[in-house]
Amino acid sequence: MAVLGIETSCDETAAAVVVGGSRVLSSVVSSQVDVHARYGGVVPEIASRAHVDLLTPVVAEALVESGVADREVGAVAATYGPGLVGALLVGVATAKALALVWDVPFVAVNHLEAHLHAALLDDPDVELPVVVLLVSGGHTLLVAMDAPGSYEVLGGTLDDAAGEAFDKVARFLGLGYPGGPAIDVAARRGDPTAVPLPRAMLDDGLELSFSGLKTAVINHCRRHPEVTTDDVAASFQAAVVDVLEAKALRAAAQVGARGICLGGGVAANSQLRSQITAAGGRAGLRVSLPSPAMCTDNAAMVAAAGWHRLRTVGPSPLDTGAVPGLGL
Ligand code: ATP
Ligand code: MG
Ligand code: FE
Repeated sequence: MAVLGIETSCDETAAAVVVGGSRVLSSVVSSQVDVHARYGGVVPEIASRAHVDLLTPVVAEALVESGVADREVGAVAATYGPGLVGALLVGVATAKALALVWDVPFVAVNHLEAHLHAALLDDPDVELPVVVLLVSGGHTLLVAMDAPGSYEVLGGTLDDAAGEAFDKVARFLGLGYPGGPAIDVAARRGDPTAVPLPRAMLDDGLELSFSGLKTAVINHCRRHPEVTTDDVAASFQAAVVDVLEAKALRAAAQVGARGICLGGGVAANSQLRSQITAAGGRAGLRVSLPSPAMCTDNAAMVAAAGWHRLRTVGPSPLDTGAVPGLGL
């Protein structure tokens, strides 16, 4: 069955057509990064209005690219939370309208569950249970997945999300917005051992914390103004990745997982990808990395999660609203 997925939780307007929960026929993402860059972050009201302008052409493009006719779409899935309320409402209202007109089920999808599915899209044969390290702009979670739809949150951040830390440090370093990709590039030119930085709670538990690291970066730069941006970026990235690697491996050992999957925008980070692949290999774990385009926000992961949800839970009522603070 072909599912049309719609994603508008933050500043990406996206639509995709996915068959059978894993075969991606099209995935169109229109990023509003340029619109928000001058403000140094996402402005909610501007995001909502941009979704209204962009969503219809993005859906049309996704359908045309997929080669699937309107009447062949079997269900319409949209992210209903977590995210910005106005932005979510645009996607939810559009999906419900299309489902009504086409007379097919509407499926409300949890954005975090969609991020969890991204790794499975690129590696559908992965053996469960796995531990998913979900590292995005707003969340940092370690999740055990026994089956699609069956999750247990094992741990997470006590303060900033990993992506938030990347964005805040990049802003402090004058690297612009969004900060993750800029730090990734700068770090390749820098020395990861140049600045001594803390690895919070490295040796115990499955909780993480990044706000102290951000403060340590700022304090070091104030005391050592001669330090280069590249060295700070490399040292900061190494500190984040060391902690993420250690926690993911500990979580996998704790639940007897067969593998580790990454998800969320920070999973596009080149150092995290190479370090976790190497560490997982040493521990005999299969490491599944979504392609970088499936790490950041997209609608293919929403369509995939929607397909699984339709099979396991069924359609969602048409009075479903946006839930900005939705958890996993
Ligand atoms: P959430 O999914 O928690 O609601 P979000 O949808 O805004 O938040 P994503 O789109 O999954 O988050 O990810 C965006 C985050 O990923 C940003 O913080 C961005 O800086 C970070 N990011 C993107 N690419 C990289 C990279 N190469 N290295 C590190 N961080 C990155
Ligand atoms: Mg975004
Ligand atoms: Fe996201």
